[in-house]
Amino acid sequence: MLKLNENYLKLPGSYLFAEVARRAEAAGKAHPDKRFIKLGIGDVTLPLPAACVAALKRAAEDMGDMSTFMGYGPYEGYDFLREAIVKNDYLPYGVKLGADELFISDGAKSDCGNIGDIFSEDCVVAVCDPVYPVYIDANAMSGRAGSYVDGKWSNIVYMPCVPENNFFPELPERVPDLIYLCFPNNPTGMAATKEQLKPWVDYANEHGSVILYDAAYRAYISDPKLPRSIYEIPGAETCAIEFCSFSKTAGFTGTRCGWTVIPRALVRGGESLYDMWMRRQSTKFNGTAYVIQRAAEAIYSDEGRKQVEQLIGYYMNNARVIRAGLTDAGLEVYGGTDSPYIWFKAPDGLGSWEFFDRLLNEANVVTTPGAGFGPSGEGFIRLTAFGDADNTREAVERIKAML
Ligand SMILES: *Cc1c(COP(=O)(O)O)cnc(C)c1O
Repeated sequence: MLKLNENYLKLPGSYLFAEVARRAEAAGKAHPDKRFIKLGIGDVTLPLPAACVAALKRAAEDMGDMSTFMGYGPYEGYDFLREAIVKNDYLPYGVKLGADELFISDGAKSDCGNIGDIFSEDCVVAVCDPVYPVYIDANAMSGRAGSYVDGKWSNIVYMPCVPENNFFPELPERVPDLIYLCFPNNPTGMAATKEQLKPWVDYANEHGSVILYDAAYRAYISDPKLPRSIYEIPGAETCAIEFCSFSKTAGFTGTRCGWTVIPRALVRGGESLYDMWMRRQSTKFNGTAYVIQRAAEAIYSDEGRKQVEQLIGYYMNNARVIRAGLTDAGLEVYGGTDSPYIWFKAPDGLGSWEFFDRLLNEANVVTTPGAGFGPSGEGFIRLTAFGDADNTREAVERIKAML
């Protein structure tokens, strides 16, 4: 008889955003005269930079002309984009990577999840807590998470990120094989320093672990001392895979493009992880669309660079407004200086969902309860800076008035 992948049946379901939507809808019905402002979901709102739109159009024309038409592209992406990324996103930060150590992807989410294909089902996985749920769920689907009991997976190593450790994980006692790190972090909005990351790189090299580094928010780093890539840490080339995305950098959430770095020097069990991932991609992936890769390349043009800077400046201005307003209101506020997320503590020891409900029903602002990102997120709320500037300002005023 056909058997299903039982691991899927253990998943608790995507409760968080469904529950947020359910409560927001009920609040809308209860207060039909009120205008609700959404600062919950982590999607961007500004349109694509004009340089990307122009490149998309040119690339579409290429596809309609026999002499420039492109069929299947390379599994690992076109060299024009791989080279542009290395030249603009790594070399200026002192990172020497070859374009042939990059894979162009259709976004960071798929690769963060799919990378598990090249590792054994027995690998022990460590994640920060709170965490972007994709890392855990993808590993649960592959049977690495154990069973889900009281809001935790029995076989996942949870590394609390709380005010006491400045939202940076401590080296765990049980040695993990795969360590997911994401900085600047979603949901806490906190960035990591080189000094904080160095011990992790040393630890991974010493134990033969692999760090899976999610740098989706690298473009939001404003402090020049902070690393934008794990490869700014010496030794990372022998222990880390890095995932990046054009989604938050240039509004590509609906356009889909990213990249994954696997250095040639990264070898485990005598095997090159680059070669293994290449084998995986060439079997299960047929490349990112040519037109999309051309659109992504355009962010590195003079125009594109300016437009991206403006786009990020717009969101970071929202972040400043949120930070300043909530701090004024007497709240304990984190993040939002090198990332588009603001993470704050609910006042008076309230739980995440309790304060979420107050914000929803009294200030008519939709947020994300921190508890939805893991047990250590309890008592916190996440706000995003990806909203409209006027709405963001108004939402902050309403929260201040409520408190
Ligand atoms: C948004 C986000 C991504 C990007 O995902 P894409 O698939 O590239 O759109 C990756 N990691 C984290 C933590 C994110 O929040």
